[in-house]
Parts: sequence; C-alpha cells; structure tokens
Amino acid sequence: SEEKSLNFIEEIVENDLNSGKYETLVTRFPPEPNGYLHIGHAKAICLNFGLTQKYGGYTNLRFDDTNPVTEKTEYVNSQQEDIRWLGFNWKNELYASDYFDELYGFAVKLIEKGLAYVDESSADEIAALKGTPTEPGQDSPYRNRSIEENLDIFTKMKNGEFADGAYILRAKIDMASPNMLMRDPIIYRIKHAEHHRTGNKWCIYPMYDFAHGQSDSIENITHSICTLEYVSHRELYDWFIEKLEIFPSKQYEFARLNLTSTVMSKRKLLQLVNENLVNGWDDPRMPTISGLRRRGFTPKSVREFCERIGIAKRENLIELSLLEFCIREDLNKTANRVMAVLDPIKLVITNYEKGTEDLIGENNPEAEDGGGTRVIPFSNELWIEREDFMEVPAKKWFRLAPGAMVRLKFAYIVKCEDFVKDENGNVTEIHCTYIPESKSGNDTSGINVKGTIHWVSAPHAKTAEIRLYDRLFTSETPDAEEGDFKDYLNPESLTVLPNVYIEPALADADLDGRYQFIRKGYFCLDRDSTADKLVFNRTVTLKDTFKK
Ligand code: ATP
Ligand code: MG
Ligand code: MG
Repeated sequence: SEEKSLNFIEEIVENDLNSGKYETLVTRFPPEPNGYLHIGHAKAICLNFGLTQKYGGYTNLRFDDTNPVTEKTEYVNSQQEDIRWLGFNWKNELYASDYFDELYGFAVKLIEKGLAYVDESSADEIAALKGTPTEPGQDSPYRNRSIEENLDIFTKMKNGEFADGAYILRAKIDMASPNMLMRDPIIYRIKHAEHHRTGNKWCIYPMYDFAHGQSDSIENITHSICTLEYVSHRELYDWFIEKLEIFPSKQYEFARLNLTSTVMSKRKLLQLVNENLVNGWDDPRMPTISGLRRRGFTPKSVREFCERIGIAKRENLIELSLLEFCIREDLNKTANRVMAVLDPIKLVITNYEKGTEDLIGENNPEAEDGGGTRVIPFSNELWIEREDFMEVPAKKWFRLAPGAMVRLKFAYIVKCEDFVKDENGNVTEIHCTYIPESKSGNDTSGINVKGTIHWVSAPHAKTAEIRLYDRLFTSETPDAEEGDFKDYLNPESLTVLPNVYIEPALADADLDGRYQFIRKGYFCLDRDSTADKLVFNRTVTLKDTFKK
C-alpha cells in the first residue's frame, strides 16, 4: 500500500527522535473542563494520541482547570468518557490544579529574580498604559516595587487579605515589545471562588499563560500541540520556561477544525444548552462527541474523518458532508438492512390466501462476513410508503400505480389492481394481486420489474418514533454572520415522526446496533427508548442531500 506522507508535526517529531533531542515522545491533551468535548477536540485528541501510538512514548490527559468559575466535575467525567469512546487511553490523568502549589512557587521565584511585580492599577489603567501594536506601552507606577514588598503583598493576596481585583501579579518583561502579550502580562489574579477540586484552598489563580507551559514542563511534555490562536503566546511560553529554568517543552501550532453549518466553541454550545435551543449536550444535532455518539456515529468514522482532514498550518473550513461521508462509508459495511415505513399507507393483497409466511432476508450484502439472514413475516396486509404510489404516474415511474407492477423487497412481485379513497380524496388503501411464482430467490415468473419497494407486514409490525435531523444552522458559517449566531438556527433541524411501522426483528434493537432502513437512511436506537416505545435517530441519509 502507498505510504502516507507525513504531516508537518510528524516531521518535527521524527526529526527530534532521530536527532536524539528526545528519547521518549510525550504529548498531552489538555481540555478545560468547562463543557463537553466537540468534533474539534476530536481532531486534537486524534493528533496527540495518534503521535504516541505511531512513535511510542505516551500521552497524558491533563485537565486545564485553572478557572474555578466555569469548571465542573460533570465535564471532567464526560470528557473522559468521550476520549475513551474515541478509542484512546491516556497514561496519566492529571489536573493543572494539582500544580497550584508548584505554580505559586514559580511565581515567587520570578518575584525573587526581579521578574514579576504586584500591580494595584485598575483594569482601565492597565489597558491605558498597554500601548497599541504600533506604539510602545508605558511602565506601571508599581513596576519598580522592591522584591520584599512584592513578596509581602503576594503572600497577603494568597492569604485572602484582599478583595477580587485589588491586586494582580504581572511578569516584568518589556512594555515596548512588539508582541502585546509580552508587555508585562498578568500571571495571577485574585478570585474568591470555589474550585471543583481544590475547594476554597486558593483565592488566587494563575492565568492560562502562566499555567499551561509550566504544566507541560512539569510533565516533561516534549511536543505541546495547540491551535493557531496561540502562535503569539509561544514567545511568552518560552520566556517563562527559560527564566524558571525548567524542562524545555516546545509549543507547536496547527489549524483548528472549522466545520460548515455549526459552531464549535464550548461557550456557544453551552448557550444552546442553557437556553434550551437543543435538548442537552448530547442532542444528536450537536457537534459534540456525545451528540455524534447519540446520533449513531461510530468512533471509527470520527477517527477516519480526522485522518482525512489532515493537519494544516493555515485556517480552513471543512464541509459537514465530509463527516457524513465517513459515517456512511462505515455503516454501509456494518449496518443490517431492515425495513421501516415512515409514511404508511395500507396495501392489501387480494389473492394471497396463505395467511402469513416467514420470508428470509439477507442482513447485509456489503458485509465482509456475508451478514447472515433473518426471518421477515409476510401477510396479505402490508404497510408501504405513501410516496411509492401514484394515482397518475409520472414519466419513468417504476413504482406502484394503477395497473403497474413492482417487487416487494425480499418477497413477491405485486400488481396494483385498484385503490380506495376517503371522502377528502386521499388514497387510503391499495389493492394488489401477487404473482406466486415470483418469490425472491426463487423467481420462475419470467416477469421483469424495474422498481423494488420496502414494506412491513401490518399484523406483525411494531411501532416506533423516528427522529430525523437536518443541519443545526441555516448559515454555512453562523460564527461569521452579522448579529447573534443563534439567529441562524435551523427551525427545521428536528422532525419527529411519532408513529412509524418497523419490522418485528427491530424490537430487539439495542443501543449499539446500527441499521440501514432500506431506502431511508442509517438509524440507531436512541436512549429515550423504553420497553413500550422505541425511538430511532437517523444518523445520516443514504446519499448526500445537502444543497450547495
Ligand atoms: P473551546 O472554545 O471550544 O472551549 P478551547 O480551545 O478553549 O476550545 P480546550 O478545552 O482548551 O478548548 O481545548 C483542549 C484542546 O483541544 C486544546 O489543545 C485545543 O487546542 C484543542 N481544540 C479545541 N478546539 C479545537 C478545534 N476546533 N480544532 C482542533 N483542536 C481544537
Ligand atoms: Mg483552552
Ligand atoms: Mg475555551
């Protein structure tokens, strides 16, 4: 098979391992536990874990939990479940909050080296002195406080002697740096808030830039991979590591995943959940990993998607239809073909006198192991799709119409002899005769028909609710539109069919099962199902129906 070319991060890793710069590759996936993971995170997970699967070494799971206000243990648990579901195992489960003592020590070390100072300017005052990208900033009046005074106030900050916002700790770098992030960035702030793990032990918390790189370094992470927004943070990342004289982790940036017709920020997804615009984080319309799982995506299809989109250095926008393509490809090989009638109309076979009979249906002609067979009950009263009958047939119509013949999948050829209408002119019943010699697999009738339709035997049918999904947003780029992204929600993203007829074998469906409802798409059982009421989600249609 053809050798896949390396992505640019694999190239860097190979060079570093070959040159002996590192003996063991160590990566990490560092989610903030402030929401459920989404398909963008899946890309970062596949990248970080994929590297150590390929090159050896290991990957840590580190919760980047330095902001007590937004973080919750519920999110920690869901994030772990989602990573495992994707098929990855971390070496160590770690928390940035476990490093709060060490990070505090790093801050003290910087103060002692004359490289950090306490500032009591207001946020506005700090902003006013910050300068602009083209103009240097100015020093804070507190920049040259003595080391002793800095240590004293910082200790008091830690001890809870001040209110939120009274003081901050800043790195003392360069107020004229062309990189705004190097203009004495804030590294600690006072926040009297309970933390999901450390409770009320701390009332000062490190900023992202002061926590992330040092956490990488504490864990001996060799390649710290993040998205392009952090390019300008790299200089600061390196500065802290150099001044603190700690393990030299290196940061590398790649293009985040952007997907059409969706939003992908935990903050925005949380709004959809909180405002009940979707039914929770795992709503099958959500781009969350839990939403995709509930929708019927397989881990393999998500990994395949991440593989196909690749790792780039420039921002790009991926079509949602590519994600759908990946699940369709997977399910085509694994999903059993079954029959369900979504919009039923009765078909009566007037010359069928056997009562009922058991037919044999092939489960999946595309399956590698042949897929096996199952029993499908047949009788003289069937449900078929309303759309498979036309009173006045269109040109090239190969399905049912007065006088026309069609094959019933797995069963017989039938001929439409008559139909019944109600007082409103709606067709309520179709009357057919069947050709006894035309049984599938044993057809000696010599009749050729062009159309095959699916059906369910009426006396044997079970009922189910079916949920059909469309894109969550009407705009391809809801983030880029004018106004609020929520103004572009698709009001027709969910269609519920409360009473669909399914073949009886589906009564045994379980949550892991994947089914192709013949001609209708791929479906899976929803966790809302009960013994009395089955609920199925449509994972994806059989063909790409998106309009460009
Ligand atoms: P969000 O805004 O969705 O919360 P985030 O980057 O703040 O995103 P984190 O929990 O900090 O979320 O992300 C954990 C890891 O996942 C980070 O390394 C981040 O770079 C990566 N990541 C997040 N979103 C994407 C994305 N859309 N594409 C690729 N990687 C992503
Ligand atoms: Mg983050
Ligand atoms: Mg975030």
